[in-house]
Amino acid sequence: MERTKGYPAALDKKLQDTKLYVDDSNPEFSKSVKAISRTNSHMCYQCGTCTGSCPSAPRSSYRIRKFMRRAVLGLENEALTDPDLWLCTTCYSCSDRCPRDILPTDVIMAMRNLAFKRDIVPVNFLKTVTAIYASGHGVPNNDVNRAAREKIGLSRDPPTTHTYAEYMPGIRKILDHYKLKANADRIIKEREG
Ligand code: SF4
Ligand code: SF4
Repeated sequence: MERTKGYPAALDKKLQDTKLYVDDSNPEFSKSVKAISRTNSHMCYQCGTCTGSCPSAPRSSYRIRKFMRRAVLGLENEALTDPDLWLCTTCYSCSDRCPRDILPTDVIMAMRNLAFKRDIVPVNFLKTVTAIYASGHGVPNNDVNRAAREKIGLSRDPPTTHTYAEYMPGIRKILDHYKLKANADRIIKEREG
């Protein structure tokens, strides 16, 4: 039965009930998420306050509560292969409001780290790595912004690596240490040729 009349078929499919079995659960995934996020994700009692606070929820099919459930149940593939994982803006509203003092934002960050280990990262995020490596900024300054800054009496570039380029080697050293840039380049090449 169609439950989301008028919606695209892909969203309708996404909102269908899904049966999950014991074999779908990887307890090690729950442990890894907890260890990386350093928050007590297993304390989640699914109240939904996080989703109710989330600015992404009204604009997309992203539901942080669903990811919390996946963290508790060890549903690794469900969590890491869902493109919605990348729709969190890291605003921390959910973390401010969770009645169990859990940090759902950090659970998402942990899952993204685990997804990256399996090369499951959207290309636009990988290109952000490239931009940071080149300029120190995920979104570098541009001439439109420079003109707007000048108009209100600010320097054309902010007092960041745009002004202090001598700090760029340090930033690149960090990205190289974690092989972030090399892995981003490799995955982009594999996907785009
Ligand atoms: S607000 Fe906290 S307890 Fe409630 S569903 Fe979200 S993570 Fe779980
Ligand atoms: S941190 Fe992410 S999940 Fe939490 S409210 Fe903000 S966008 Fe939503």
